[in-house]
Amino acid sequence: MPAAPPHRSGAASPDARRPAANPWFVDLRELGRRAGSMHELERTLPAPADWRVELIGVPEGAEVHLRLRLESVMEGVLVSGEVDVPVAGSCARCLEPIEDTLELDVQELFAYAGSTTEATSEEDEVRRVEGEHLDLEPMVRDLVVLSLPLAPTCTEDCAGLCVDCGQRLDDLPADHTHEQLDPRWAGLAARFTAAPGTPDADNPEEN
Ligand SMILES: [Zn+2]
Ligand SMILES: [Zn+2]
Repeated sequence: MPAAPPHRSGAASPDARRPAANPWFVDLRELGRRAGSMHELERTLPAPADWRVELIGVPEGAEVHLRLRLESVMEGVLVSGEVDVPVAGSCARCLEPIEDTLELDVQELFAYAGSTTEATSEEDEVRRVEGEHLDLEPMVRDLVVLSLPLAPTCTEDCAGLCVDCGQRLDDLPADHTHEQLDPRWAGLAARFTAAPGTPDADNPEEN
Protein backbone atom coordinates (compact mmCIF):
# COMPACT_ATOMS: atom_id res chain seq x y z
CA MET A 1 0.00 0.00 0.00
CA PRO A 2 1.56 3.34 -1.03
CA ALA A 3 2.28 5.91 1.63
CA ALA A 4 -0.28 8.69 1.92
CA PRO A 5 0.90 11.92 0.25
CA PRO A 6 1.85 14.72 2.64
CA HIS A 7 -1.11 16.89 3.53
CA ARG A 8 -0.93 20.30 1.89
CA SER A 9 -2.65 23.07 3.80
CA GLY A 10 -5.58 24.58 1.91
CA ALA A 11 -5.53 21.94 -0.81
CA ALA A 12 -8.70 19.98 -1.34
CA SER A 13 -7.48 16.72 0.11
CA PRO A 14 -10.83 14.86 -0.03
CA ASP A 15 -10.63 14.73 -3.82
CA ALA A 16 -7.29 12.94 -3.65
CA ARG A 17 -9.34 9.86 -2.87
CA ARG A 18 -11.33 10.30 -6.06
CA PRO A 19 -8.83 11.23 -8.77
CA ALA A 20 -11.32 10.64 -11.58
CA ALA A 21 -13.91 12.98 -10.09
CA ASN A 22 -15.02 16.15 -11.85
CA PRO A 23 -12.50 18.77 -10.64
CA TRP A 24 -15.32 21.31 -10.15
CA PHE A 25 -17.02 19.05 -7.63
CA VAL A 26 -16.43 19.63 -3.95
CA ASP A 27 -16.81 16.65 -1.68
CA LEU A 28 -18.77 17.74 1.38
CA ARG A 29 -18.10 14.75 3.58
CA GLU A 30 -15.17 16.44 5.27
CA LEU A 31 -17.10 19.66 5.88
CA GLY A 32 -20.00 17.81 7.46
CA ARG A 33 -23.39 19.26 8.26
CA ARG A 34 -22.69 20.78 11.64
CA ALA A 35 -23.58 24.49 11.29
CA GLY A 36 -20.50 26.61 11.78
CA SER A 37 -17.94 24.21 10.39
CA MET A 38 -15.76 25.78 7.75
CA HIS A 39 -13.44 24.60 5.04
CA GLU A 40 -11.08 26.58 2.84
CA LEU A 41 -10.51 25.54 -0.71
CA GLU A 42 -7.95 26.74 -3.20
CA ARG A 43 -7.91 25.28 -6.69
CA THR A 44 -6.61 26.14 -10.13
CA LEU A 45 -8.78 24.53 -12.80
CA PRO A 46 -8.85 24.60 -16.61
CA ALA A 47 -11.68 26.67 -18.07
CA PRO A 48 -14.37 24.83 -20.05
CA ALA A 49 -15.00 25.83 -23.66
CA ASP A 50 -18.16 27.90 -23.46
CA TRP A 51 -17.39 30.73 -21.04
CA ARG A 52 -17.73 33.59 -23.50
CA VAL A 53 -19.91 36.28 -25.02
CA GLU A 54 -19.58 37.61 -28.54
CA LEU A 55 -16.31 39.54 -28.40
CA ILE A 56 -14.59 38.27 -25.27
CA GLY A 57 -14.32 35.14 -23.22
CA VAL A 58 -12.17 32.81 -21.20
CA PRO A 59 -9.81 30.82 -23.44
CA GLU A 60 -10.57 27.13 -23.16
CA GLY A 61 -8.13 25.50 -20.77
CA ALA A 62 -7.00 28.83 -19.25
CA GLU A 63 -6.28 28.66 -15.53
CA VAL A 64 -9.22 29.64 -13.35
CA HIS A 65 -8.05 30.32 -9.84
CA LEU A 66 -10.50 29.76 -6.98
CA ARG A 67 -9.98 30.87 -3.39
CA LEU A 68 -13.13 29.89 -1.60
CA ARG A 69 -14.48 29.40 1.88
CA LEU A 70 -17.21 26.83 2.42
CA GLU A 71 -19.33 27.29 5.52
CA SER A 72 -21.91 24.89 6.77
CA VAL A 73 -25.08 26.81 7.62
CA MET A 74 -28.56 25.64 8.60
CA GLU A 75 -29.91 25.63 5.07
CA GLY A 76 -26.92 24.37 3.20
CA VAL A 77 -23.39 25.40 2.32
CA LEU A 78 -22.43 29.03 1.91
CA VAL A 79 -19.65 29.45 -0.64
CA SER A 80 -17.79 32.76 -0.69
CA GLY A 81 -14.45 34.04 -1.88
CA GLU A 82 -12.64 35.11 -4.99
CA VAL A 83 -12.32 33.88 -8.54
CA ASP A 84 -9.51 35.07 -10.82
CA VAL A 85 -9.94 34.28 -14.47
CA PRO A 86 -8.01 35.32 -17.61
CA VAL A 87 -10.07 36.69 -20.50
CA ALA A 88 -9.17 37.38 -24.11
CA GLY A 89 -11.04 38.99 -26.96
CA SER A 90 -11.03 42.02 -29.20
CA CYS A 91 -11.85 45.71 -28.76
CA ALA A 92 -15.38 46.51 -29.94
CA ARG A 93 -14.16 49.83 -31.39
CA CYS A 94 -10.74 49.15 -32.94
CA LEU A 95 -10.62 45.33 -33.01
CA GLU A 96 -7.21 45.20 -31.28
CA PRO A 97 -6.71 42.04 -29.21
CA ILE A 98 -7.49 42.45 -25.51
CA GLU A 99 -6.15 40.37 -22.64
CA ASP A 100 -7.13 40.90 -19.05
CA THR A 101 -7.72 39.10 -15.79
CA LEU A 102 -11.07 39.41 -14.04
CA GLU A 103 -10.98 39.33 -10.26
CA LEU A 104 -14.48 38.49 -9.09
CA ASP A 105 -16.08 38.12 -5.69
CA VAL A 106 -18.62 35.42 -5.13
CA GLN A 107 -21.05 34.50 -2.39
CA GLU A 108 -23.73 31.91 -2.93
CA LEU A 109 -25.77 29.47 -0.92
CA PHE A 110 -26.02 25.86 -2.05
CA ALA A 111 -29.20 24.60 -0.40
CA TYR A 112 -29.58 21.12 1.06
CA ALA A 113 -32.29 18.92 -0.38
CA GLY A 114 -35.28 19.24 1.95
CA SER A 115 -34.18 22.56 3.45
CA THR A 116 -36.71 25.39 3.69
CA THR A 117 -34.70 27.36 1.14
CA GLU A 118 -34.82 24.49 -1.29
CA ALA A 119 -38.52 23.86 -0.69
CA THR A 120 -39.55 27.49 -1.15
CA SER A 121 -37.41 28.32 -4.20
CA GLU A 122 -38.04 27.71 -7.85
CA GLU A 123 -35.81 25.23 -9.62
CA ASP A 124 -33.57 27.88 -11.16
CA GLU A 125 -33.52 30.28 -8.20
CA VAL A 126 -31.16 28.46 -5.93
CA ARG A 127 -28.13 26.25 -6.28
CA ARG A 128 -28.37 22.89 -4.63
CA VAL A 129 -26.15 20.48 -2.83
CA GLU A 130 -26.21 17.25 -4.85
CA GLY A 131 -25.89 14.33 -2.50
CA GLU A 132 -22.47 14.54 -0.88
CA HIS A 133 -21.05 17.15 -3.22
CA LEU A 134 -21.65 20.48 -4.85
CA ASP A 135 -20.67 21.53 -8.36
CA LEU A 136 -18.80 24.82 -8.55
CA GLU A 137 -18.75 25.03 -12.35
CA PRO A 138 -22.27 26.47 -13.00
CA MET A 139 -21.75 29.05 -10.24
CA VAL A 140 -18.37 30.21 -11.57
CA ARG A 141 -19.55 30.12 -15.18
CA ASP A 142 -22.55 32.36 -14.39
CA LEU A 143 -20.36 34.71 -12.38
CA VAL A 144 -17.80 35.01 -15.17
CA VAL A 145 -20.16 35.21 -18.14
CA LEU A 146 -22.33 37.87 -16.47
CA SER A 147 -19.17 39.90 -15.82
CA LEU A 148 -17.99 39.86 -19.43
CA PRO A 149 -18.58 43.18 -21.22
CA LEU A 150 -20.74 43.06 -24.36
CA ALA A 151 -18.63 45.86 -25.86
CA PRO A 152 -15.12 45.46 -24.45
CA THR A 153 -12.61 48.19 -25.26
CA CYS A 154 -8.80 48.10 -25.32
CA THR A 155 -8.66 51.36 -23.36
CA GLU A 156 -11.43 53.25 -21.61
CA ASP A 157 -11.52 55.96 -24.30
CA CYS A 158 -10.45 54.02 -27.39
CA ALA A 159 -11.27 56.27 -30.36
CA GLY A 160 -11.87 53.36 -32.73
CA LEU A 161 -10.91 53.21 -36.39
CA CYS A 162 -10.65 55.91 -39.03
CA VAL A 163 -13.69 55.42 -41.28
CA ASP A 164 -11.63 56.28 -44.34
CA CYS A 165 -8.44 54.25 -43.96
CA GLY A 166 -9.31 51.75 -41.22
CA GLN A 167 -6.28 52.56 -39.04
CA ARG A 168 -6.58 52.94 -35.27
CA LEU A 169 -7.20 56.62 -34.55
CA ASP A 170 -5.19 56.32 -31.32
CA ASP A 171 -2.12 55.37 -33.42
CA LEU A 172 -2.51 58.34 -35.75
CA PRO A 173 -1.70 62.03 -35.22
CA ALA A 174 -4.56 64.06 -33.74
CA ASP A 175 -4.99 66.01 -37.01
CA HIS A 176 -5.29 62.84 -39.13
CA THR A 177 -7.65 63.59 -41.99
CA HIS A 178 -8.39 62.47 -45.54
CA GLU A 179 -9.96 65.72 -46.78
CA GLN A 180 -7.00 66.63 -49.04
CA LEU A 181 -6.89 63.22 -50.70
CA ASP A 182 -10.27 63.21 -52.40
CA PRO A 183 -9.85 64.83 -55.84
CA ARG A 184 -13.58 65.58 -56.20
CA TRP A 185 -13.51 67.94 -53.25
CA ALA A 186 -9.90 69.13 -53.18
CA GLY A 187 -10.48 72.15 -55.44
CA LEU A 188 -13.63 73.23 -53.67
CA ALA A 189 -12.04 72.87 -50.24
CA ALA A 190 -9.12 75.03 -51.35
CA ARG A 191 -11.49 77.77 -52.52
CA PHE A 192 -13.40 77.82 -49.27
CA THR A 193 -10.16 77.92 -47.33
CA ALA A 194 -8.80 80.78 -49.48
CA ALA A 195 -11.98 82.87 -49.38
CA PRO A 196 -14.27 81.81 -46.57
CA GLY A 197 -17.77 83.09 -46.88
CA THR A 198 -17.54 83.88 -50.61
CA PRO A 199 -21.14 84.53 -51.75
CA ASP A 200 -20.59 82.99 -55.25
CA ALA A 201 -19.26 79.70 -53.96
CA ASP A 202 -21.93 77.88 -55.95
CA ASN A 203 -20.77 79.47 -59.19
CA PRO A 204 -17.42 77.85 -60.11
CA GLU A 205 -17.25 79.57 -63.56
CA GLU A 206 -16.17 82.80 -61.88
CA ASN A 207 -12.76 81.32 -61.08
ZN1 LIG B 1 -9.64 49.81 -29.10
ZN1 LIG C 1 -7.59 57.56 -41.91
